[in-house]
Amino acid sequence: MSHEDKQSAAMQSTAMQTPLVKTRELTKYFDMGRGQRVHAVDGVSLAIAEREIVGLVGESGSGKSTFGKTLLGLHDKTAGEVRFRGEALPAHYRAADYQRLAGNMQMIFQDPYSSLNPRMTVGEIVGEGLSLHAHLKSAEVKERVAEWLRRVGLQPDHMSRYPHEFSGGQRQRLGIARALILEPDFVVCDEPISALDVSVQAQVVNLLGELKESMGLTLLFIAHDLSMVRYVSDRMAVMYLGSLVEIGRADELYFDPKHPYTEVLIGSNPEPDPKLERGRPSTAIQGEIPSPVNVPAGCRFANRCPKVMDVCRQVTPQLIPLKELTRQVACHLY
Ligand code: SF4
Repeated sequence: MSHEDKQSAAMQSTAMQTPLVKTRELTKYFDMGRGQRVHAVDGVSLAIAEREIVGLVGESGSGKSTFGKTLLGLHDKTAGEVRFRGEALPAHYRAADYQRLAGNMQMIFQDPYSSLNPRMTVGEIVGEGLSLHAHLKSAEVKERVAEWLRRVGLQPDHMSRYPHEFSGGQRQRLGIARALILEPDFVVCDEPISALDVSVQAQVVNLLGELKESMGLTLLFIAHDLSMVRYVSDRMAVMYLGSLVEIGRADELYFDPKHPYTEVLIGSNPEPDPKLERGRPSTAIQGEIPSPVNVPAGCRFANRCPKVMDVCRQVTPQLIPLKELTRQVACHLY
């Protein structure tokens, strides 16, 4: 390991001793009746340091959004724990818990069309959190909303308009203003760009990057587009069928994936930079992701893995650090 790597690993390990957010074995099952359960999130442990951006990637149905929502208390946990600044958060949130935590943790939703109430004005939507949680007078709320509309690249006089009068990119800017007006420390961005035109995606990502720097935000950035996630994230975590299979520094993981699933996931994702695309092996993911109701024994990726061994179908691989320390992988190859 180079001196730079050692220094970086040491810094990361120090940051991780006091992470801003930490989940331990976080689990969320949905009951379907007749004894059947959807294993949406299964024992996920992840620590996120202050001012860090962690990108969470995986196919549709891997449990990424459910993990983000369970972490924030929008779903009750089935098991496990979430800590914020070292404090264990309640297993089941009551109204007072949402009230108390709203200024600390927020979410930017995937769909800027359905997540904004069409009957509310922009001023009401963006200022709602301040009215509910900060108990400010209406003149102060108006002032803060005007300031936040400017910060996200809109105009204060947009306050009296309705969501349908805005484009998709502008609506996502409204969603960002609504989430950040309470100046939270931690934000879950749930696929914040996937419903937007490609031309607008980079603008929204750049806006989030600027706000992260100016506010010292910590982000969990959930997305499909791996090249975009690599661009914005310090580290990436890869999720498959409710479990984490690999965590590492974004560039290292993207250009040197260790887990066979990460390898095929990245290989099947188009790289927008033609120079980088030329050097990358192209692979397609074979087969279907198994049902989260009937989770297979052993490694969950075994039925699709080109490197499967006998042990993989019997023993569940645990997420373990590799000798580089900056990488954790759940695979019997390591
Ligand atoms: Fe493939 Fe086995 Fe590794 Fe699972 S544990 S990813 S099946 S090699």
